[in-house]
Amino acid sequence: MRPPIVARVDRARIAGRWVADAVVELGEAGMRLVPGDEAPPRIRSRIHGTLLPPITDAHVHLGLADAALAAPTTLGRVLDLGWAPAALPALVEAATAAHRGLDVRFAGPFHAAIGGYPSDRAWAPPGAVAELAGASDAVRSVRAQARAGASVIKVSLNAEAGPVPDAAMLAAIVDEAHAHGLLLVAHAQGPGAAERALAAGVDVLAHAPWTERLSDELIGEAAASQTWISTLAMHERDGDPAALERATDNLARFAAAGGAVAYGTDLGNGLTRFDLDDSEVAALRRAGLDGTALVDALLAEHLLPPGPTVTSCTAAVHDDESLLAALLGPPRHRPRPLPHTTFDLEDA
Ligand SMILES: [Zn+2]
Repeated sequence: MRPPIVARVDRARIAGRWVADAVVELGEAGMRLVPGDEAPPRIRSRIHGTLLPPITDAHVHLGLADAALAAPTTLGRVLDLGWAPAALPALVEAATAAHRGLDVRFAGPFHAAIGGYPSDRAWAPPGAVAELAGASDAVRSVRAQARAGASVIKVSLNAEAGPVPDAAMLAAIVDEAHAHGLLLVAHAQGPGAAERALAAGVDVLAHAPWTERLSDELIGEAAASQTWISTLAMHERDGDPAALERATDNLARFAAAGGAVAYGTDLGNGLTRFDLDDSEVAALRRAGLDGTALVDALLAEHLLPPGPTVTSCTAAVHDDESLLAALLGPPRHRPRPLPHTTFDLEDA
């Protein structure tokens, strides 16, 4: 592990705030603004341009995406939300070999009741679903994922496809995830699933709810405690305009009520290109997320702790609007991720 880099940078977005001509520390645990009274008397290194946390897709399945193709990408960080734990290390290695410094976080398997979603799906390889017989099974499995380095825990509450965890099992999953300091992410689908997830203490929904229109009251409560991962464009790919409309309406009201939104595509589900998805960004805008709210969703700082990758932009990027213009501009000018160990430092 290399020591952190301390350098003066033209501009940076740190903790949601833009700073200019700032001293930053870049290390394994992200980028930190070094206050004036803590800065070394002479900063020897200078980074030109603008730095910000990595652009994050908070819902991917590496095993179903083109993550191992060495094509340029704007993504600096991804969260894999469900795969066989035994297959993950090789997938992470292939993705990081193709994209130097890519920060890969993962959940491990879907936790489900025996026979529950997605154990019957052809895309889910053996081991992708931890089918649980009861609360003690749940505790054992969540503990194993925490030991394996999971960043979050995934639970399947799909009331439209097979059995779902009962109250005792769900409570055990919530409690054990939280005991390890991990957020619990639910796939909530079907009547009452989102309400059940909220009441049980689920922290994150893997998809903006799309199977039913949620009441303003329920959305207000969800907004106070949950993060929702968008995955709106998934419904366009599915050719399901009614689902898209319900998900957009629910997410718009959730965001308007102050709920935290994270950009996520369900990469691997009808979409394989390992990059920022313009359709998902456009769908977020239609849900009223733009400007700072959209940038916050793309960085997902509220969802995942910072890591060793930053996004590097040209000097033309100086605030959230110019950042969005660059992100949606011509590919060759798009911001790109850089691990902090690869900066070419020049004398300040
Ligand atoms: Zn998914």
